[in-house]
Amino acid sequence: MAAAAPSIEKAVRGVTSAPVLDFLKRPKNLLIGGKWVPAKSGKTFETINPANEEVLALVAEGDKADVDEAVKVARKAYEEGKWPNIGPHQRARYLFKIAELIEAHADELAILETLNNGMAISLARGMVAGAAEVFRYYAGWTTKIYGETNPSDPSMFNYTLREPVGVCGQIIPWNGPIAMFAWKIAPALACGNVSILKPAEQTPLTALRLGELVLEAGVPDGVVNIITGFGETAGAAIASHPDIDKVAFTGSTEVGKLILQASAGNLKRVSLELGGKSPNVIFADADLESAVSTSMFGFCMLSGQVCCAGTRVFVQQDFQDTFVDALTRYTSKFKASDPLDPKTTVGPLVSREQFERVKSYLELGKKEGATPVLGGEVTSGKGYFVDPAIFTGVKNNMRIAQEEIFGPVAAIIPFKDENDAVLQGNDTTYGLAAAVWTKDVSRAHKVARALKAGTVWVNCYNNIDPISPFGGYKQSGIGRELGKYAIDLYTQIKSVYVKL
Ligand code: NAP
Ligand code: MG
Repeated sequence: MAAAAPSIEKAVRGVTSAPVLDFLKRPKNLLIGGKWVPAKSGKTFETINPANEEVLALVAEGDKADVDEAVKVARKAYEEGKWPNIGPHQRARYLFKIAELIEAHADELAILETLNNGMAISLARGMVAGAAEVFRYYAGWTTKIYGETNPSDPSMFNYTLREPVGVCGQIIPWNGPIAMFAWKIAPALACGNVSILKPAEQTPLTALRLGELVLEAGVPDGVVNIITGFGETAGAAIASHPDIDKVAFTGSTEVGKLILQASAGNLKRVSLELGGKSPNVIFADADLESAVSTSMFGFCMLSGQVCCAGTRVFVQQDFQDTFVDALTRYTSKFKASDPLDPKTTVGPLVSREQFERVKSYLELGKKEGATPVLGGEVTSGKGYFVDPAIFTGVKNNMRIAQEEIFGPVAAIIPFKDENDAVLQGNDTTYGLAAAVWTKDVSRAHKVARALKAGTVWVNCYNNIDPISPFGGYKQSGIGRELGKYAIDLYTQIKSVYVKL
């Protein structure tokens, strides 16, 4: 059923940026073979502004039929060599151009991201700048993807070629749409692959705008295709498609397992960046001021809707009163508020579903016997606003300490010594990230080594640089994105023997 056109003015409340309003007024179609087309079914779905629950736009609801079409044109673009056979210097130029265009449209992209996701505008600006950096970083890689010559038998000349994987399906979540677009598309293109990307149903807008910029950069038709739609239909069609060579997924561990199963049909290569419940370990000798402010950022950035959020805060017993008191006082200054206000740090959650989920965990925490020393209640009204909450009296085996809440909720858990911190910190099915706070250099390195996580921060949190790998131990994922490691995800190796 065709829905009524939304009232953009009501949804954007106060935003006057002409490029944003123009974009919102344009139809939101699928990008297939360089053209913007409606879904074959003709269906659309609403995308909303989580700060006021108003409809921002109607978006094409792509499904299996559209994925099939996108795979066909992507395959053609790949096999005809439109992208893989463009020389590396030229490919670099396209990636540099995309980075430039992202920067030229930074304001527009950041506002759109905030309108659709609810993240604080200051964070959205940072994410846009970061995305441009990721494209530049991989532009640099295009000319540095080497094979090797191998010391084989003298009668033979043996060398390896590093070749693209082919047609990649890339499924991204709602919690950092612009960043996730860059993490997926930039390395895939740098290595000569073509892509079919599906943004999350909650946040399709910036991927569509970025799709326009990719075309503006001159990337050939069919190299980047974007299918908006739902996970159960469009996403599942990508994961199980017999002619997609690789699938890269970021999202929940639960869906990650479905992707892995669906990919078995044609043995796709799979990389998964999944959930987390990351330990942030505070020793009594930590610098109180920076441990407090950064730990708050660790569990409140993007309202805690971050896979690597530091939501299990382990504090050394003797230090607990001092630390919790300071953390509570500091965090109480940050109320969830209008994400478009440059002074805002904590915006609304992304959706009604996420709001209900976080609310239920706040109740669960109390039922499990933990004490909310800050927050813990949700007021009603328009928008999915949840103030930061801190629970004490948490045991590591409670559900609020083990399950990914994806909201600004910290569980404070005491520990005795180094050994106890590591044992409890690692006592989780996840292993995406961890942090340790101490002035003792040896202890910092020892604990960093002992924590089972893909990223460990020492006296800092949430730092991510495209030069360094990101991904999970245990059920937090398979493979590493960013850095030279993404080159492994998006290339395959051929060994060539030449008889001399
Ligand atoms: P999700 O379902 O895992 O969504 C991630 C992406 O996968 C979305 O594009 C989604 O499409 C798609 N998808 C869903 N089901 C699929 C299927 N069967 N086959 C292929 N693709 C599928 O995550 P969510 O529903 O947005 O959030 C649920 C929970 O996941 C959150 O509360 C949070 O705990 C966790 N999460 C983790 C991360 C992370 O970065 N690690 C990111 C997001 C969410 P739709 O948008 O249509 O669902
Ligand atoms: Mg979902």
